[in-house]
Amino acid sequence: MDHAATTPVDAKVLEAMIPFFNAVYGNASSIHSFGQDAKEALDSSREKCAKLINADFEEIVFTSGGTESDNLAIKGVVRKGNHIITSKIEHHAVLHTCEFLEKHGFEVTYLPVDKYGFVNPRDVEKAIKKNTVMVSIMHANNEIGTIEPIAEIGNICRDKDVLFHTDAVQSFGKIPIDVKKMNIDMLSASAHKLYGPKGVGLLYVRKGVRLTPQIHGGGHEFGLRSSTENVPGIVGFAKAVELAKKNMNRWAEHEKRLSKMLVKGVLKIPDSWLNGHPEKRLPGNTNFCFKHIEGESMVIHLSMKGVAASTGSACSSKSLKPSHVLTSIGLSSKDAHGSLRLTLGKDNTKKEVGYVLKELPSIVENLRRISPLTR
Ligand code: PLP
Repeated sequence: MDHAATTPVDAKVLEAMIPFFNAVYGNASSIHSFGQDAKEALDSSREKCAKLINADFEEIVFTSGGTESDNLAIKGVVRKGNHIITSKIEHHAVLHTCEFLEKHGFEVTYLPVDKYGFVNPRDVEKAIKKNTVMVSIMHANNEIGTIEPIAEIGNICRDKDVLFHTDAVQSFGKIPIDVKKMNIDMLSASAHKLYGPKGVGLLYVRKGVRLTPQIHGGGHEFGLRSSTENVPGIVGFAKAVELAKKNMNRWAEHEKRLSKMLVKGVLKIPDSWLNGHPEKRLPGNTNFCFKHIEGESMVIHLSMKGVAASTGSACSSKSLKPSHVLTSIGLSSKDAHGSLRLTLGKDNTKKEVGYVLKELPSIVENLRRISPLTR
């Protein structure tokens, strides 16, 4: 139940990838037939990924993952003296990139969010200045699942002639995205969040956006990201996209049903609540707080029972700082430490949810009994 951290590679995805490790192993830049076979697979994968979000073939740049896509989008557009607008609840791939740029003389505005984690589009509008070059607001938050009003933000940015980037790593393939209708100029996605392999992602770059590459070399990916393409990974990504497109509604309904059951059961535990918005969230995302205990101990106890969960973001779960997302929605750092994220996937079952609902109350009760925070 930690699908927001990563997902297993779907059997059909693995099957699609395997020939590209050995049978069709050519370098997609080679002109001989071995290379051209790989190039064909690369092209059709690019087309499939583009179609999912109503983009065009040449607007998809394959990368090594969401983190690289975020770095390329943000560092790629800024020029000396520029101002960037983002939110306080972005993933570290965006926040740390912005902090790095601040150290190098760029100006960054970190917008606050409300108690559900929503960015107010009016705040975006008010923050835009003469030297603002881009706005980067995530589509769906990785911790609390909140779905941001990105179409409204996209409209404002287009009106004001400011580039709009969205980190859609958690939403890509899970909820509908139309880059044209939503006025998105750049969008980051990652294969391993949607039953694809790790180490492959993409950046959608609208035609006409001028981007400076961050990795220089042989000029692959339309000159925006050099390095021999990871053909097996990209083929796997495209297969995952194909499956996500075909099953989007069915998987979302399944995850919603399970999440509802989970929320209803978990909230029977005294002194607990759900973080984020009750409806406007990713279908499989739940994020709870339990008073007087530490999220880490819940995660360890659940792990001993065979359940994968997380507290805050998995990428930063080694850090002792409370989640920046939870403190940004107004939680005290003490309460934020008692958070538990359970994120459901397409293959989770009612039985598994039932198992968590059976085990969790006694874990919480036992931890509270020995917790120094209750005294
Ligand atoms: N952005 C968001 C919202 C994420 O959830 C993640 C991963 O957790 C990333 C970016 C980083 O993606 P990757 O692991 O592919 O680098």
